Amino acid sequence: MKVAIITGASRGIGRACAIRLAKDGFTVVINYSRSEDEANAVLSQIKADGGDGMIYKADVSDPAQVKQMVKDIDKRYGQIDLLVNNAGIVRDSFLLMMNNDDLDKCFDLNVKGYFYCAQQVGLKMFRKKSGVIINMSSVSGELALAGQSVYSAAKGAVNSLTRVLAKELGAKGIRVNAVAPGFIETEMINALSDEKKEEYLKDIPLHRFGKAEEVAAVVSMLASDELSYMTGQIITLDGGISL
Ligand code: NAP
Repeated sequence: MKVAIITGASRGIGRACAIRLAKDGFTVVINYSRSEDEANAVLSQIKADGGDGMIYKADVSDPAQVKQMVKDIDKRYGQIDLLVNNAGIVRDSFLLMMNNDDLDKCFDLNVKGYFYCAQQVGLKMFRKKSGVIINMSSVSGELALAGQSVYSAAKGAVNSLTRVLAKELGAKGIRVNAVAPGFIETEMINALSDEKKEEYLKDIPLHRFGKAEEVAAVVSMLASDELSYMTGQIITLDGGISL
């Protein structure tokens, strides 16, 4: 048995990752902060597919809640083999209109939350001398889109964190990689106006948005032993928008 924690797995990309990883044979922990019904629905889907797992409510931007979550999961299963740092929010606004609350919320979850989870899970993986951490980044970590200074800076930090942790943890048998999706059909981009969506679609060579399941397929590969020599990489999956 292998155990995976997927943060922010009640919806969107995290949900697709949980369902895919369960099919790959992982026992999955579906983390969420508010959407309990949705998290239960993900677990039901996994069980209907013949998999196993549990839901766990924790705000991963709170270090105390992360510590308790990892402690509880380790106690229940005795091991944590995979962490998918996925829970994230977008807070787009132009610099001159940006407010400090949005800046804090974005960095607390998209950056500090990834640190907290990697540190707590890393301590458990360190004990076993094996494990995989996958960080959900974004093409915005590299691309400069006006209005996304906060999100881009956060995802740029995730890319740097991925590379440094790969160096720090490699000798302990822990691989760290990231996936950098472009526009993926989830609630996150449903918030965009139709006009904005049309504008972005023009710039995507494949002329469509990606699907959460397509991101989950990359996560599945990065988690598998077949890629056991890959670490410190940021894998872009964006229909070509960053070309
Ligand atoms: P989403 O549909 O908005 O889902 C976000 C998930 O995160 C939900 O399950 C939500 O659950 C959870 N969450 C939010 N705050 C949390 C907190 N404090 N603690 C724990 N869980 C929390 O987002 P998504 O589009 O799937 O995005 C997932 C990741 O992919 C993010 O890191 C995002 O930056 C990245 N990404 C997305 C796209 C895209 O186009 N969609 C592109 C590139 C990168 P609750 O409702 O229970 O809080």
